[in-house]
Amino acid sequence: MSSPKIVNGPGGYILQDVPHLIDYLPDLPTYPNPLKDNPAYSVVKQYFVDTEDTVPEKIIVHKDGPRGIHFRRAGPRQKVYFESDEVHACIVTCGGLCPGLNTVIRELVSSLSYMYGVKRILGIDGGYKGFYAKNTIPLNSKIVNDIHKRGGTILGTSRGGHDTTKIVDSIQDRGINQVYIIGGDGTQRGASKIYEEIRRRGLKVAVVGIPKTIDNDIPVIDRSFGFDTAVEEAQRAINAAHVEAESNENGIGFVKLMGRHSGFIAMYATLASRDVDCCLIPESPFYLEGEGGLFEYIEKRLKENGHMVIVLAEGAGQEMMSKSMESNTLADASGNKVLKDVGLWLSQCIKDHFKKIKMVMNLKYIDPTYMIRAIPSNAADNVYCTLLAQSAVHGAMAGYTGYTSGLVHGRQTYIPFYRITEKQNNVVITDRMWARLLSSTNQPSFLGPKDTSEEEKETPEGEICNGVVDIPPVTKE
Ligand code: ATP
Ligand code: MG
Repeated sequence: MSSPKIVNGPGGYILQDVPHLIDYLPDLPTYPNPLKDNPAYSVVKQYFVDTEDTVPEKIIVHKDGPRGIHFRRAGPRQKVYFESDEVHACIVTCGGLCPGLNTVIRELVSSLSYMYGVKRILGIDGGYKGFYAKNTIPLNSKIVNDIHKRGGTILGTSRGGHDTTKIVDSIQDRGINQVYIIGGDGTQRGASKIYEEIRRRGLKVAVVGIPKTIDNDIPVIDRSFGFDTAVEEAQRAINAAHVEAESNENGIGFVKLMGRHSGFIAMYATLASRDVDCCLIPESPFYLEGEGGLFEYIEKRLKENGHMVIVLAEGAGQEMMSKSMESNTLADASGNKVLKDVGLWLSQCIKDHFKKIKMVMNLKYIDPTYMIRAIPSNAADNVYCTLLAQSAVHGAMAGYTGYTSGLVHGRQTYIPFYRITEKQNNVVITDRMWARLLSSTNQPSFLGPKDTSEEEKETPEGEICNGVVDIPPVTKE
């Protein structure tokens, strides 16, 4: 892999920069941005984003200037590295479904054609393998006009089948010079490999990722598209569970939501709903039997209230279930471990427990996962998808490559691939948001007694100086 581009910025911040085509094609000509003739140009005071403009990953205010890690700010640039007639773009969607995929496709096509006058745009059919195995779909503004009102992806998607050489051969053979890749962590890893191979071959091809994960488990960015829609749609399942629970003697409404490794959907759906008595997520281990365990809490809630609602993220309790069942080594076509249905398993454990203690209980299990994934994105996600797509296109036209577009502290940025794929975004159960959830549900924390010595520890970021966090400046080279 080519080494990450890190620049020491003025004032002592570190710019984790994204690659540019001129890094390996230094003689590329530039052209004035055609957007200078766009109506948008005349209404915004400073329409073109300054090439030096950056966005901090963490906001650190310091008397001597910016500090910390920064990313390049997204947006239209004064100069572009592609002429409109020269652009031959393609769009591919990979991995699982997520609300908003069609909106991103639509807005990529609209941005390319309306803003930059691009006429040649191809859809790759059925994920990465579509580059070399299937037909392509010609795209224009008319074809994509109302696809944002539909769930899924009009391009189709798949897992597995990433063959870097074959994909780049196909890109080269078709004369494609802008590749837009929409997908999750696996997809972005694949995109990074495509970028590396394109660079190795010295091709004038911009490779751009748009991060997709309904679970909101991609690091660095504020949130992922589709997440807001998923939380909203999960309310319907929780409402149904509540109605079922209320209508039966000692009723339990039990809802399984998405979240293989991160419980954000379960946490936000619980906080939004107010009907949930217990939220179980992968980050917060829990146990069933004994004092302070789940069974004890369920018994208590049923005795107090006559019914309860439990929300469970699909990755929660996996270890506990694996211990009680034979080991699971199944993997999908992309190599991701296939999780067993913890919802079914836990429902059965709860039923067995109440049978054992001879207490009446009626449990209704609802798994709305595939229904949530398949719906069109809501208004907030539609706006977000539009901004992501516009930023992605501005960046490619400006010659940037090997990046993901994303929102950081409310600003559109270009983030190098390695920052998106190096780790996962998780719910931090020692943070206030999880504490707020515990206060709202009143469920046990399933943790041991609090170690109060932690509170006296100093912040690891550095010293507090004039009321701001002071981290040492970076020495300029
Ligand atoms: P999600 O998990 O949110 O559904 P994802 O993008 O992580 O989305 P995957 O099925 O893991 O979904 O991967 C999508 C595509 O990326 C597949 O075609 C897979 O072959 C490819 N891919 C996954 N991991 C890698 C990798 N490390 N290198 C190259 N390609 C990869
Ligand atoms: Mg994934």
